[in-house]
Amino acid sequence: MIRTVYVVIRFSLFYFGVIPECKRISPSKKHHFRNREAGQNCPKCGIKMKHYKGKLVNHKIHYDAVTVGHILPQSLGGSHSKWQIQPECKICNAAHGAVLAELIHQYGRSKWDVPYFVLLKFVVYSAGQIKSTSFNKFENEFQRHLFRLKETAGLID
Ligand SMILES: [Zn+2]
Repeated sequence: MIRTVYVVIRFSLFYFGVIPECKRISPSKKHHFRNREAGQNCPKCGIKMKHYKGKLVNHKIHYDAVTVGHILPQSLGGSHSKWQIQPECKICNAAHGAVLAELIHQYGRSKWDVPYFVLLKFVVYSAGQIKSTSFNKFENEFQRHLFRLKETAGLID
């Protein structure tokens, strides 16, 4: 629950201009994170994740690549602190991003076109600690993208 409260506060401070967007995570921090988390199962889909050292990972080929998953997307004010990142497979990470991209597309061209409470709902859903039917729409979208990405990676016949 504390994670949800934390991301809601952080997102709100970002949305209302109190804190800026974080700089991108450094390549060395990314490398250490992937190295450390390789071999774990993805918390979202359960696949055993691998570290493709020194490779630019592609979801079609390296679908099981361990990636730095931001619980609160960086574009919504997320940082790279321990609290806000978790290892996720390439496909789940991409599907989460696709849900946000589609949400933005429904309202306009940028996240600033999306009403605060709509993004807030997405943020609470992303924190993953509250299971409520009001998140069904996001969960269905996530599953749809996951399926589509798995299909393009040749994981589904
Ligand atoms: Zn996954």
